Amino acid sequence: MFKVNQEVVAIKNHSQGLFTKGQHFVVESISACGCGMELLKLFKLTAPSGSTRCNCCMGVINDSYFYAKMFAPIDSVTFADELLRDIAIEIEEEQLILK
Ligand SMILES: [Zn+2]
Repeated sequence: MFKVNQEVVAIKNHSQGLFTKGQHFVVESISACGCGMELLKLFKLTAPSGSTRCNCCMGVINDSYFYAKMFAPIDSVTFADELLRDIAIEIEEEQLILK
């Protein structure tokens, strides 16, 4: 699903505020945790401690890797759905103002 140098967008906010939904990144490398969770390392996104911890198996990852499920490729169906939902909400709000 992910490729090195691919542009991705965060689809969720990071629990500790390292990135927010809608932020764009480029994939630096792809890995997986011992428990099977797919991980991404992203250019210009570094964990302050230099390592991250897997919430699933509690394993420490000695690099700034984040869950791949927090991101979507820019051109993916997931992102298009997400975008359409946001637009739908915006239209709904606009209609509320107009009435
Ligand atoms: Zn894990």
